[in-house]
Amino acid sequence: MVSKDVIFDEVRRVGREWVIRGRVRSRSRPNTWHSVEVRIRRLRNGEVAMVGRCDCEAFTKGHMVCWHMLHLTNAFIKNRHRLVSGLGFSVN
Ligand SMILES: [Zn+2]
Repeated sequence: MVSKDVIFDEVRRVGREWVIRGRVRSRSRPNTWHSVEVRIRRLRNGEVAMVGRCDCEAFTKGHMVCWHMLHLTNAFIKNRHRLVSGLGFSVN
């Protein structure tokens, strides 16, 4: 547990991408957790590309990149070394 609002269920490297699955707490309903999956890739120019899906209304009804995807991505980037160190990856 690295954040009270985020639970990581799976972190794996697939080629040049990170695939992250987890749950992110709803901001409006604190007892609700959204299931989120994001794929993150760092581009050559230093930009970060992220795609994902979520079970919240913003995504399922509005097809929008929602706060939950961004929050999971940010929590992963901030805690990447801690999350990955137990998995036997080398991180670059
Ligand atoms: Zn969402």
